[in-house]
Amino acid sequence: MFILKSKAQLEKAIAKARKIRTQVKFISFGVYEVKGTKGNFYKVKCEKNAAGERTISCECLGSERGFVCYHSAAALALHTGLARQRQTA
Ligand SMILES: [Zn+2]
Repeated sequence: MFILKSKAQLEKAIAKARKIRTQVKFISFGVYEVKGTKGNFYKVKCEKNAAGERTISCECLGSERGFVCYHSAAALALHTGLARQRQTA
């Protein structure tokens, strides 16, 4: 799990997600499943903590170690798009 503080944190992960063209499945608002390189899916949760910071947690090993994985970047891209739609709706 990591706290999103700036978009710069995600740059590498976003680039990787684009390169791999991973697949993101919508489960519910804030919960997504992102396809891993072995065809498996990782559950990613985009939430806000008590301080109002956006937190992203992914089930993969890299994320558990505090790395910003491309699964998180891919899920967040979808999440921010949906969040924007909700605000304008
Ligand atoms: Zn991950």
